[in-house]
Amino acid sequence: MFAVHLMAFYFTKMKEDQIKKVDRFLYHMRLSDETLLDIMTRFQAEMQKGLGKDTNPTASVKMLPTFVRAIPDGSENGEFLSLDLGGSKFRVLKVQVSEEGKQNVQMESQFYPTPNEIIRGPGSELFEYVADCLADFMRTKGLTHKKLPLGLTFSFPCAQTKLEEGVLLSWTKKFKARGVQDTDVVSRLTQAIKKHKDIDVDILALVNDTVGTMMTCAYDDPYCEVGVILGTGTNACYMEDMSNIDLVEGDEGRMCINTEWGAFGDDGALEDIRTEFDRDLDFGSLNPGKQLFEKMISGLYLGELVRLVLLKMAKAGLLFGGKKSSTLLTKGKIETRHVALMEKYKEGLANTREILTDLGLEPSEADCIAVQHVCTIISFRSANLCAAALAAILTRLRENKKLARLRTTVGVDGTLYKIHPQYPKRLHKVVRRLVPNCDVRFLLSESGSTKGAAMVTAVASRVQAQRKQ
Ligand code: BGC
Ligand code: MG
Repeated sequence: MFAVHLMAFYFTKMKEDQIKKVDRFLYHMRLSDETLLDIMTRFQAEMQKGLGKDTNPTASVKMLPTFVRAIPDGSENGEFLSLDLGGSKFRVLKVQVSEEGKQNVQMESQFYPTPNEIIRGPGSELFEYVADCLADFMRTKGLTHKKLPLGLTFSFPCAQTKLEEGVLLSWTKKFKARGVQDTDVVSRLTQAIKKHKDIDVDILALVNDTVGTMMTCAYDDPYCEVGVILGTGTNACYMEDMSNIDLVEGDEGRMCINTEWGAFGDDGALEDIRTEFDRDLDFGSLNPGKQLFEKMISGLYLGELVRLVLLKMAKAGLLFGGKKSSTLLTKGKIETRHVALMEKYKEGLANTREILTDLGLEPSEADCIAVQHVCTIISFRSANLCAAALAAILTRLRENKKLARLRTTVGVDGTLYKIHPQYPKRLHKVVRRLVPNCDVRFLLSESGSTKGAAMVTAVASRVQAQRKQ
């Protein structure tokens, strides 16, 4: 009995020591509410800067008008195609929307691979490939004889002057196809589709994945006026009053703004928050100096941040008896799905041992506990930062409506949010703490980013039809 107690005592003590050690090492990554409120205020200023005519050209947070004004009202119907390019998976989708009651959306979809040669090769080949996949989908689904409207979910920053056009401002995440920046991706894709004589589609809308997510959620919940992506990349959109959007004529009603918050900090606004790990990660990325906020938050980067921390700790003799394996030295060897596995409630510790062993390390029990805590600090920081920016958006919405309390719904999609066992809970909790005067409902939008482009297309064709009447 006594021996058991003693063992429990040593285990608890060992665990506390490991946690303290990591906490001290990553002191700079643990953000207090005071700091988060400060970041929230900075982001509020960034939004204002992006919206203003004179300040927009130098703003790092671009606050892009999307030309999405109306949200679905349930009267949409018909058959729509949608393409989703830029998330963790490339997907083609057919959506059937019918008027009989809401939630009556049926979809069929197909995933296609996106090899690096395609997404980092010549741009024309990328669009030809996308058109080939679309044609393949239409053939297999027996849709070649129909003329169908298509919505393109394109998860990159685009400058739009109308719904069916978008000039790529820059590639982000894993994409770097040549000769696409500064061109209209809708006409590029239209040209590529024209080469297929057996299909006839009309691209009616170009939609960011955040907008797609918001629209899909709004179809089920009319309070939804914000969309957030926590996936390979991160971003958010929300409904802004037209009177505050300098870049678009007119003061009536609202329009969805794609914030492109991933670029927050690209002008140096977050230098005091960024750590040496963030700088190392950025240095080795495809787009150094760009998307600095995104690089502290999204799925493409969290695993790599964990790896960089573990490496430094091993070098300092704080982990693995000071040994580093060659895999631990290799970029990209720890992925966000590993981080999610290591943070599982019950199996987390066993998963950690397995993952570290696969990396060629020989972790002790203490090492595993320490590594688990590193994962927690890094993914918690991600949720904290996202919460701070989201709190800024919610506050802006509340102030626009001149309300003391705001009731609203945030639609969320993205692999990080979906696969990490504790991420959603942490994010919700911090947001509610930062903006106590907002009653926020978070709605996971299953396939929202893809389905949304079809929803936008459906709304666009409804509006078009109404105009013709
Ligand atoms: C892109 C955004 C996109 C986000 C999530 C970012 O890298 O710039 O347009 O919404 O990733 O996919
Ligand atoms: Mg996506």
